[in-house]
Amino acid sequence: MSGFFDTKIEFLKGVGPQKAELLNKELSIFTYGDLLQHYPFRYEDRSKFYKIRELQPDLENVQVIARIRKIELVGVGGKRRLVAYVADETGEMEMTWFKGIQWVQKKLPVGAVYIFFGKPAQFGRKWSIAHPEMEPLSQATEKRNTFQPVYSSTDKLRARFLDSRGISKILEGLIQVCYPHISETLSQEVLDQYQLIGKREAVKEIHFPSEPGLLQRARKRLKFEEFFFLQLRLLMMKVSRTEKFRGQILDNTELLTDFYQNHIPFELTGAQKRVIREAYHDLKSGKQMNRLVQGDVGSGKTMVAFICMLIAISSGTQACLMAPTEILANQHYEGLKEFADMMGLKISILTGSVKKSARKIIHEELLNGELKILIGTHALLEDVVQFKNLGLAIVDEQHRFGVAQRAKLWAKNEEFIPHVLVMTATPIPRTLAMTLYGDLDVSVIDELPAGRKPIQTVHRYEKDRLKVFGFINEEVKKGRQVYIVYPLIEDSEKLDLKSLMDGYESIARAFPQYPLSIVHGAMKSEDKDYEMQRFVKGETKIMVATTVIEVGVNVPNASVMIIENAERFGLSQLHQLRGRVGRGAEQSYCVLMSKYELSKDSRIRLETMVRTNDGFEIADVDLRLRGPGDLMGTQQSGITDLLIADLSKDAPILTLARDAAQQILANDPHLTQPVNAPILRQVKQQKKTAVNWSRIS
Ligand code: ADP
Ligand code: MG
Repeated sequence: MSGFFDTKIEFLKGVGPQKAELLNKELSIFTYGDLLQHYPFRYEDRSKFYKIRELQPDLENVQVIARIRKIELVGVGGKRRLVAYVADETGEMEMTWFKGIQWVQKKLPVGAVYIFFGKPAQFGRKWSIAHPEMEPLSQATEKRNTFQPVYSSTDKLRARFLDSRGISKILEGLIQVCYPHISETLSQEVLDQYQLIGKREAVKEIHFPSEPGLLQRARKRLKFEEFFFLQLRLLMMKVSRTEKFRGQILDNTELLTDFYQNHIPFELTGAQKRVIREAYHDLKSGKQMNRLVQGDVGSGKTMVAFICMLIAISSGTQACLMAPTEILANQHYEGLKEFADMMGLKISILTGSVKKSARKIIHEELLNGELKILIGTHALLEDVVQFKNLGLAIVDEQHRFGVAQRAKLWAKNEEFIPHVLVMTATPIPRTLAMTLYGDLDVSVIDELPAGRKPIQTVHRYEKDRLKVFGFINEEVKKGRQVYIVYPLIEDSEKLDLKSLMDGYESIARAFPQYPLSIVHGAMKSEDKDYEMQRFVKGETKIMVATTVIEVGVNVPNASVMIIENAERFGLSQLHQLRGRVGRGAEQSYCVLMSKYELSKDSRIRLETMVRTNDGFEIADVDLRLRGPGDLMGTQQSGITDLLIADLSKDAPILTLARDAAQQILANDPHLTQPVNAPILRQVKQQKKTAVNWSRIS
């Protein structure tokens, strides 16, 4: 059956080789199936007609019924255009063509009445529409729909009369030949339970809606289907993984209890406790854990990680934590060493700059099991790093690591794959998480430790600079520390370095009394660390940096974050940067400096930052501004292949589709029951063309 939909588009009536080639090139439409899935991107209400006198600036596309009074070629050379002067009983206007002039000229008879459609523009007092769609009034049939589909097209296609209307025409022919071949992809149970219309009807209605209600149902059905199969594939991956890999049973909580009763420096938040319980449930289940912990910056992910390590260790295994940068690995090491020492547990750090002799000791102690916790960068992944029994591998800020790197971590235990806990502070909207990480279990730390004061954020311009400097001065006098961050964009690295250096100099001039640090990407990693350490220890008061400080660094005494050229940063990056402050008991501030003229999107980004500290709300705005294709990790996920469903708008349908997929797999994990036959057929069909799902990160 799929064979039929693979038929080349050139064999369709009214297409032919030339148009087919253009459709291939311009819209990647090669086959019947491709064209059938070239869904309209919106619909136009064609029940309304305008009189010429009613035309107004700001109107979108309108329909006008008018008689052609005169046709004329105007101008010469490249500016040549065809003008039709048309009129109704209220006035006159012009229709103009710059391309396809000969064809139009032949087609338009003076004296005939046409329905013209397009966006009106005003020149002087005269209205005109360039390249209108048109149809003789006499031919406008009754079945002509009030809801007209609008298809994306291109200039080249339009020049060949494959405008939205032309595409609709060939689709008419296509639907006729395809209709009997369209088969159902969902089971009757799913159709009934979610009150979805059949596939055939949905495809027909999406292209040729018979009434608004049915169109709505057709859209819902097709969106549901897209989400459903996306979720189904992810969940099936999870099923096959849990079947393949057992997990070590890690269920001893002795160390945890000791730590909790005698050493923990603060009360855990409710959210931290919940996430620990969720992880513990996995660790003792006998199945391998693959869990993502999402928590906004400062939500206390490190403590969750440490407590999970304690469970792993008292159950007789070892634990490791991998961080994306040396600065971050060091910071984790320093922080966790204090706790590990209290508990009498041996902990080490392994990064690129650890000396050979020290490495050797680490390797030995890992193998004989003396070393319980290893912190490090991707140096952990080297083959020489072998554990006696690695029970738990934790990855911090996972989006910085590729999947291949994570797979290497898995291989660190031959008998059992280690349990994996992945932590990220990049807030991902729930809808996206469901899709991106559909094969992982997700825990969310959605609560900040008590007593945190929300960071106050303001937006300032160059003219406010003196005031901002005055504010910095006051804060430093109170004993606080300050970050000043400059953008770094790869293709203009030199320029950015210059603006960073200029900034550094002006700050040095403004604050000769305060020691400064500077950190940027072009520095050697030892120098970066050295500067960073001086700031951590409080020896320097102001840190001038590029976004290298974005991830994870923890300096609770820093209370002010100044972001220069804030309009050049993405929303999630701004949020990450702001998360560097507000980690101590003091009131913290974030100042977004920008130029005066801002694009609409930049303005929304800055306003959002000023309005809220909630990472998930920010992520939602980000998703709406950029679309999912731009977000981290989505490129390989197949999300960008969605044809009709929209992650930022169709969250409720996604949730339904996920529930449906879950329910089906719970009863029939391999889709072998007869009722699920249509679903299985579709899964197999898609497998042939699907992206490599194992690459989801
Ligand atoms: P992130 O989730 O961004 O990695 P961290 O784990 O670095 O956050 O924690 C941020 C700060 O909050 C650290 O100084 C940590 O000690 C502190 N912290 C974590 N949990 C709590 C808690 N329950 N109560 C008070 N402070 C906490
Ligand atoms: Mg962290």
